[in-house]
Amino acid sequence: MPELPEVETVRRQLKEKLNNRIIKKVIIYYNDIISYPKIEEFKKQISNQKINDIKRRGKWLIFELDSYYLLSHLRMEGKYFFKKSSEVRNKHEHVVFILDNDVELRYHDTRKFGKMYLIEKDKINLIGPLIKLGLEPWDSNLDINYLKDKFKNKKLPIKAVLLDQSIIVGIGNIYADEILFLSEISPFKRACDLDDNQLRQIIENTKITLDKAIKLGGSTIHSYTSVDGMDGKFQNELLVHKDKSLCPNCKNEIKKVFIKGRGTYYCDKCQKL
Ligand SMILES: [Zn+2]
Repeated sequence: MPELPEVETVRRQLKEKLNNRIIKKVIIYYNDIISYPKIEEFKKQISNQKINDIKRRGKWLIFELDSYYLLSHLRMEGKYFFKKSSEVRNKHEHVVFILDNDVELRYHDTRKFGKMYLIEKDKINLIGPLIKLGLEPWDSNLDINYLKDKFKNKKLPIKAVLLDQSIIVGIGNIYADEILFLSEISPFKRACDLDDNQLRQIIENTKITLDKAIKLGGSTIHSYTSVDGMDGKFQNELLVHKDKSLCPNCKNEIKKVFIKGRGTYYCDKCQKL
């Protein structure tokens, strides 16, 4: 599944090619990708809208059009490709945006879990999936007091709580393990029991880990590739989230456990409970 750094990489690549392009029309081959509004309205509203910018919130890509925001979530396997209109459609290309330069932006999704919303600009804080998202890792409001407040009633292991997108967006399973290792915090520690210094460590190491992942183009685990087929290099740099490895600090064997069903890697010497 693409995580925040991969989505950010996709955003940058799309923005380079799409700024100021006009969507002439859209053809939808698999209706369930479109969550809102109804298919016919979606098609009508998006026609002849210009793409003024492409932003990101959490793992949502946000195409800023003239009157609407087009939100796109890649979920497990979603990818975007640019193709000439003469190129035969691949069977996994479910939504085709016809642009004003004889190029098509094609949304490709083998699992068909991806979702799109088209929302009027003045309703973006009222409806749709962005309203329940937490802070971005780089938001200046993300500080110790914010986390203290969010964690105070959370008796779950910090590993599980870091994945909660209503607190901080964009920390996926791999990144949570890396952040906790850098912070020397056991993934089993209850979120409500963390002290100020540990909260500070989590905030700092979240930024460090995601910055590094974005710089390296995200991590390519499973079948994820970005628009140009560029593979992420972050997976070569993982400290603990990998099988049968030794702790880079103490050479202890890295343990693999499951926390709330998610594979979790950690060093039980450096990350004591
Ligand atoms: Zn260690």
